[in-house]
Amino acid sequence: MLFKKKLKFVAGLAIASLLAACGEKAEQSADTKQVEKQSFEWKLVTSWPKNFPGLGTAPERFAEMVGEMSDGRLKVKVYGAGQLVPALEVFDAVSRGTAEMGHSGAYYWKGKSPAAQFFTSVPFGLTAQEMHGWIHYGGGMELWKEVYAPFNLIPLAGGNTGVQMGGWFNKEINSIDDLKGLKMRIPGLGGEVLARAGGTPQTLPGAEIFTSLQTGAIDATEWVGPYNDLAFGLYKAAKYYYYPGWHEPGSMMEFTVNKDAFNALPKDLQAIVRTASRAVNQDMLDEYTSRNNAALKELVDEHKVDLRPFPKEVLMKLRTLSDEVLLEVANKDPMTKKVYESFKAYKDKVVKYHSISEQAFINARNAE
Ligand code: CA
Repeated sequence: MLFKKKLKFVAGLAIASLLAACGEKAEQSADTKQVEKQSFEWKLVTSWPKNFPGLGTAPERFAEMVGEMSDGRLKVKVYGAGQLVPALEVFDAVSRGTAEMGHSGAYYWKGKSPAAQFFTSVPFGLTAQEMHGWIHYGGGMELWKEVYAPFNLIPLAGGNTGVQMGGWFNKEINSIDDLKGLKMRIPGLGGEVLARAGGTPQTLPGAEIFTSLQTGAIDATEWVGPYNDLAFGLYKAAKYYYYPGWHEPGSMMEFTVNKDAFNALPKDLQAIVRTASRAVNQDMLDEYTSRNNAALKELVDEHKVDLRPFPKEVLMKLRTLSDEVLLEVANKDPMTKKVYESFKAYKDKVVKYHSISEQAFINARNAE
């Protein structure tokens, strides 16, 4: 009897706990369903013309990827420059929440913090491969987040153009003096170096470059590289195409995310946003690496562009001026100094290693 009673009691307990578990499960699946139903629609503003090759197609790819990965729970609508906000107001628009995300270049925001410029490209600084190393494994991203935190923004990697071209000129550049008085579209730290060489740098959004060059409002311009420069038809407005892009050796693009919007996402969608940005970051570099070759060939063979290297002495002088400018910018505020020191320490190490790896290999492979 006692045994039977005990058995009944145990069975009762088991049933009760089974029922409780079922209840929990039912509750859980209701919760999951609720989360699944929660969907988000975001606006993404950019500094580029809608669907501009590389720069403009990268955020479109991001939106597509996020839509697929989230099964439509996070829909991102991409706006070209001027469609919702002007090209150079992306930072402010995302900061105040007019749009949840932006795609641009951090060096456009040097007025917000001089430190921002280090997260796009530094004259005679890091190549794309090296830049990605600093950002993701060398402490760069932590600093970038710190610089953007007061603006309610989270930065994410948004692509890389690789080494850019030196730019388009209507006169030969034979000595550093040829840069004196030159009005050139060249943003960020490169622009500050040009100013040091006696030129007048301008920061114009991409869409205004061609007309400014053609009408003589500017004497020269840099933009990106053959793939993008061909798309803007810059060869129609200038004769000489100089290389290399000493001022932008591995320009990193950025996604910015409004912090409140990001925090409102469930963890899985946050992971999707982060992962898609990394994928797009690498994808842009792959695309440029492949398409620049064909575009350069078309510029030279079909459009008879006069392709020239900057004379070595011009480059060496620009390198000296760059070092001076960087030191000066670093001393503007403690945060910029912190970023400069991290960048410089990483650069010293990676240059040393790459001299016996990437550089040694390229020298050997290309030797005649
Ligand atoms: Ca550029």
